Amino acid sequence: MDEISPNHPRAESLRIRKRLAEGMRAGMVVPEGLAAHGRGEAFDYLLGERTTEFAREAIEAAAAALLLASHPVISVNGNTAALVPEAVVELSEVTGAKIEVNLFHRLPGREALIAEHLKKHGGREVLGVKEEDAVRIPEVQSDRRRVDRKGIFSADVVLVPLEDGDRTEALRALGKRVVAVDLNPLSRTARAATITVVDNVARALPLMVEECRRMKGLPREELRKKVEGFDNGRNLRESLRLMCRRLVELSEKGEDLFK
Ligand code: ATP
Ligand code: MG
Repeated sequence: MDEISPNHPRAESLRIRKRLAEGMRAGMVVPEGLAAHGRGEAFDYLLGERTTEFAREAIEAAAAALLLASHPVISVNGNTAALVPEAVVELSEVTGAKIEVNLFHRLPGREALIAEHLKKHGGREVLGVKEEDAVRIPEVQSDRRRVDRKGIFSADVVLVPLEDGDRTEALRALGKRVVAVDLNPLSRTARAATITVVDNVARALPLMVEECRRMKGLPREELRKKVEGFDNGRNLRESLRLMCRRLVELSEKGEDLFK
């Protein structure tokens, strides 16, 4: 599958898959990452593969939280590096956030490979690579406890574009504000995060960059209101309801849908 026809009804979804497959051939993405993406795709299908109004609200609150932060950090895994390396670097530039490679599946050399990929896309400093800077956080088992002393360990706000529930809960328990991007509004990550953007990371991160640029000059009080006025539980429920409404509407199309 080399060429993706622009007329294909799932052209964008196929382009995203292709980026992941290339990321896997480059050694950045692991097979588990492909499976995780597939689970996300199913929810994207239900959303209509677009950024909803609720995701936009969450993106705005997330941008405000990043701009307000004293020590913001963007946690990057293999899938995120393969899908949106440019947006990660741009977001770090506009918010002053540090970039940290933080992996669920650690393999020799994988962190360094991902760091190199981010540097190729303009990233200046990428944390999470040096063993001497690693700190182990409590509550998480095995390798996943490792964070960088200069990065997530000292962060007040952590953006975790694709994260696992255990780690999100551990970061919250350490008192950090966690911004997650997760297509599944039912996951533990989505429920445990302070702000969850229910959207595909491939769409949400570039929009977050735009939103940060737009909001950068706003007074801190206004940014604070946006963060404090955001209700994550309500936003998740609305995202779920939107999926339900869509399914009901589609089912009512009856015969037309199955032609
Ligand atoms: P949790 O650990 O939070 O309870 P989980 O165990 O069900 O969740 P994981 O395997 O940890 O899920 O991660 C996979 C999840 O990541 C998917 O269900 C999906 O929601 C999310 N995901 C995968 N790819 C993307 C993507 N491109 N954009 C947004 N979210 C994604
Ligand atoms: Mg999980």
